[in-house]
Amino acid sequence: INFASFGLHESIMRAISEMGYETPTPIQAQAVPLVLAGFDVMGAAQTGTGKTASFGLPLLERLIPTANTSMSPARHPVRALVLTPTRELADQVHDNLQSYAKYTGLRTACVFGGVDIHTQQDALRRGVEVLVATPGRLLDHVEQRNTSLTQVQIVVLDEADRMLDMGFLPDISRILKLLPVKRQSLMFSATFSPDIKKLAANFLNNPKLVEV
Ligand code: AMP
Repeated sequence: INFASFGLHESIMRAISEMGYETPTPIQAQAVPLVLAGFDVMGAAQTGTGKTASFGLPLLERLIPTANTSMSPARHPVRALVLTPTRELADQVHDNLQSYAKYTGLRTACVFGGVDIHTQQDALRRGVEVLVATPGRLLDHVEQRNTSLTQVQIVVLDEADRMLDMGFLPDISRILKLLPVKRQSLMFSATFSPDIKKLAANFLNNPKLVEV
């Protein structure tokens, strides 16, 4: 299996080849086609396996038809939302997505707590298609009407087990209620406790399971 077989847009292929990716990792080989086909996916994978690209590349591919160069925020609603447990992971995931999206025209942003909210607010108000966020700060922004989640087409829960460990379930539940019912949902977790399975059952719709 190679990247060409995924049929990704030329703008994405150019970015990953610049990053030196030659062969998809096992999780990418399994998850990318499923996400591209529109399935919900439950991924059992740790950091270091290439899981970010396994959801990031197909996520961007599915958004490309909506990319545009208009400056109006109304024309850049959030279409993909990635939730992470920590600022460090948010930053790292965003860094990757930004690199993959470099030639697509899609805008990305990253918001997390513990830093000044106003800089993030400016970025959100300009409009972004891809938003990476920690749950609490995202809810702050939604409450302040800096962004809206009503146009989200794809949502990713990254390191879902850590999110539950850190007590984010109430925030996650509140965020999920703000999303359209008709959407694609992806979830990644290194472990599978009963709580994770329960979250998956509530959050995912006929998910395909991907394990590495
Ligand atoms: P992740 O598990 O998503 O945190 O990725 C771990 C590291 O592997 C990151 O530095 C990625 O940039 C890199 N990576 C992801 N996919 C590939 C690939 N197919 N080929 C080479 N490096 C990759």
